[in-house]
This record gives sequence, structure tokens and C-alpha cells, in this order.
Amino acid sequence: MRYPIDLHIHTSANPHAYSTLEENIRSAREKNMKVIAITNHGPALQDSPHWWSLVNMRVIPEYVGELRVLKGVETNIIDENGNFDINQRIYDVMDIILCGLHTVEAYGDPTNIIKNTKAVVNMIRSQKIDIMVHLGNPQFPLEYEIVVQEATKAGVAIELNNSSLRASRKGSEVNCRKILELCKKYDTYVSLGTDSHISYDIGEFSKVQELIDEIGYPMEKILNFSVENLEAFLEKRKEKRVKNI
Ligand SMILES: [Zn+2]
Ligand SMILES: [Zn+2]
Repeated sequence: MRYPIDLHIHTSANPHAYSTLEENIRSAREKNMKVIAITNHGPALQDSPHWWSLVNMRVIPEYVGELRVLKGVETNIIDENGNFDINQRIYDVMDIILCGLHTVEAYGDPTNIIKNTKAVVNMIRSQKIDIMVHLGNPQFPLEYEIVVQEATKAGVAIELNNSSLRASRKGSEVNCRKILELCKKYDTYVSLGTDSHISYDIGEFSKVQELIDEIGYPMEKILNFSVENLEAFLEKRKEKRVKNI
């Protein structure tokens, strides 16, 4: 199975990623991808791009040849009350907004399962984000069933992150399996992201595919399965996402 869509890609605007925007676009076109989302980190992480870099994504064309390039951001949860680290000007530019728990100073202790669950639930309820990313990270324990139920209710997608299942977030696999099983139980949208930090990884979903096959996830609920699936999801998000943050 090859998916024509990758919704989680970093460029070298984050110093810990190695390919420029153009290199990523070139790689995606060579692989006949139809849609990619460029999703650099929000400003709270130590090596995030300057926030102007996110605002100025408006200069990126919507299409390069046949490839659609979505303007996105991977925001950071900064507290338990549904707040993240981007401002209105960044928010207004974005086609798609990812959000996750990362080790940022403002958030503090990552080990408290009650705090983490409350933080993710409030972020989902805020209707400011479209996709919750890499929830299987064992560094941030969560009550998965509560989170998946909230996401379903809010129409927010849960990400399956190929990088988590390789080397990035050790110990994620058992959690990701649990999360995907719950997504199947509650009929939740699932988004696939490679979390590429180098252009060669774009569209490389072999690890998440193993889990999808194992669990038998329905293709119509996977955003990356077709452009139609993605567009239907983005349309629904447009109705639900709040205008002012
Ligand atoms: Zn991340
Ligand atoms: Zn990422």
C-alpha cells in the first residue's frame, strides 16, 4: 500500500531537520505524492524556527506542479487549559494544525498522567487543532480511551507516526497498537505522518502499515488513503475550527 499523502514533514527551518522546503517538494514529486503538509515546530521548542518563518509560509504556493503543499505547524501544548504556542497571525496562515506534547519548559513535568490527559482533552475540546500527534510516546503517559473518545466527539484526527515506530520515541509501539485499537472501537479519523526530518523519508509508512494491517483499520477513516478522504476531513475541520484563538 502506498499512500499519496504525508501530513507531517519538517524542513531545515528547524535546525534538527536536514532538507530544505524545495528538497522536500522535489522528493515528494519524485515519489508521485499528491499532497504533503509542511509542519515545522511551534516556537516553544528550543530549536524551533523564528515565528516569522511560520507566518511567512503564505509565500509557499498551494501547488507545485501537481503536488499540493499544505501550510502547517506542529504546535506544542504549553499547559493543561487548552493553550498552545502559536499566535493568531500564524494560526490564520495555516491549512492544517498539528499539536503534541513535547518537552517544553512551559509545560513542565511530563510524567503526570492526570495532567497530561487533561491537557490533551482540553486542547481537543478547544477546536483549535486538527490532528493530535504521536500520542503513543511513553514519556507522556495518557489515558488513551478518554483521549480517543474526545477526539471522536470533536472530529479531531489521531496521528499514527511512522518515526515513533522506528527510533524516535522508544517504547511507542505497544501504546500505538492500543491507541489504534481504540480508534477502531470509536470510529476515529486517523492521520498518517512520517515526521520526516530528511526528504528521503517522505511517504515512507512501512511501520505504521504493519499496525494498520494487524488491526484491520478501515481505509475510509485514514485521511491519507485518498485526496477525497483528506478533503472531506479538511472541509469538516473548517466548520469546526474556531476563528479566534
Ligand atoms: Zn513532535
Ligand atoms: Zn514532528
